[in-house]
Amino acid sequence: MSLSLADLTIRQLQSELKAGNISPVDIVNDVIKSIEDKDSEVGAYLSINSEDAITRAKEADISKPLGGIPVSIKDLINVKGQPCSCGSRILKDSYTSTFDATVIKKLKEAGAIPLGRVNMDEFAMGSSTENSGIQITKNPWDFDSIPGGSSGGSAASVSNGTAIASLGSDTGGSIRQPASFCGTVGLKPSYGRVSRYGLVAFASSLDQIGPITKTSEDAAIILNTIAGKDQHDSTSLDSEVPDYLQSLNGEIKGLRIGMPKEYFTEGIDSGVLSSVQQGIQTLNDLGAEIVDISLPHTEYAVSTYYIIATAEASANLARFDAVRYGNRVSDPTNIIEHYRKSRAQGFGEEVKRRIILGTYVLSSGYSDAYYVKAQKVRTLIRNDFTEAFTKVDAIVSPTAPTPAFKIGEMSNDPLQMYLADIFTIAANLAGICGISTPCGFTTSDNGKKLPVGLQLLGPALQEATVLKISDAFEKSTDWHKQRPKQI
Ligand code: GLN
Repeated sequence: MSLSLADLTIRQLQSELKAGNISPVDIVNDVIKSIEDKDSEVGAYLSINSEDAITRAKEADISKPLGGIPVSIKDLINVKGQPCSCGSRILKDSYTSTFDATVIKKLKEAGAIPLGRVNMDEFAMGSSTENSGIQITKNPWDFDSIPGGSSGGSAASVSNGTAIASLGSDTGGSIRQPASFCGTVGLKPSYGRVSRYGLVAFASSLDQIGPITKTSEDAAIILNTIAGKDQHDSTSLDSEVPDYLQSLNGEIKGLRIGMPKEYFTEGIDSGVLSSVQQGIQTLNDLGAEIVDISLPHTEYAVSTYYIIATAEASANLARFDAVRYGNRVSDPTNIIEHYRKSRAQGFGEEVKRRIILGTYVLSSGYSDAYYVKAQKVRTLIRNDFTEAFTKVDAIVSPTAPTPAFKIGEMSNDPLQMYLADIFTIAANLAGICGISTPCGFTTSDNGKKLPVGLQLLGPALQEATVLKISDAFEKSTDWHKQRPKQI
């Protein structure tokens, strides 16, 4: 298999551009060709704006931080003039974005080129991209397996060499888990670090946009561009944005990294566990001190999340009523039927399940028992992290308890799928940052190599710390350099 420019990192392309060996048009053409050659098997892309991207490439200023670099975009981030279907039939072919999300505006100002809309679980609800109302996306390492979710298209495109980098979103793990399943790097910034303006909301108190890339260095380059206060998102934080590249000095000697005992219990796949343990040993060899810690409320994280996230989703999805947004049925006899039928036809099973759960936990008579209680438990979970971060600089764990599972394996058992989010969800409830970086492989039942991710969590606004550790890890290992072999 020969490498194309689409297989390179942002950093590598930047050196080639600066040296005058390639042009932005070469990069965009190569990415488009790679998509044409390789995406039909994987199905990461929903649409490609080739002409627009080539026009932008011709005008690109390579002196800018992301000049001439194409980035694939999860299908729930608005890019002016492009479709934004959120992986849902209710919006498919009926909605074109009228504005750029703040992250897109910032990417464009930095010279980047949004290229292609990538698949996702409908409205970001899921862990496998099987809930997409539009198409299935396969894991480039094993076409029988899922790529993870909900940013499955983002991770699959980067892993497959059909994107240089991608933007995804993470409400309970949707950047880190697919990154881990596809052998890529995924960074979930702290709540408020990146503006959510123009991100179609799933659960507004948990959602964050972040990069999926081939290296932590590339994640730092993108974070440098997209982070910061935005007047259009009052939850974005007015805190100085450091130069994240500066922290990548490989120096992790003396850093204290906590291993939460609740994250290393039974139920973890043995191949995942041994890769993660070996990864922790590498961090130790690099001079980090590994410290035993406890996050005592971990067992409540999944249930707390599925109350809060569904409650917020039920409110956020009210706008898809086929009056304000969404496809309409053609033959309603009255307005109530219009709402009912349009929503019943447009939304998939998982989205309906969550709207029903969410309205239930908020309903009068039940909200104290569910929603209000969940908010209290959320505070306990957040306090666990505050307490842990008085002792350690970062926390290490597997990103997910298993590698990518088979397509269809869990689709009839949503609870089983919810439980698999156990290691990623608490970070969103606490508002802290986290990254997943490749740390090894395990073997699937059909003998295919499947990537394993190492998760590093850091205190709120300490993205520099987790990036520093994952970058140092990548500099002394080559897991992140391995790519799935294409036939
Ligand atoms: N898998 C989780 C869910 O289904 C997280 C999704 C996400 O982060 N968007 O809700």
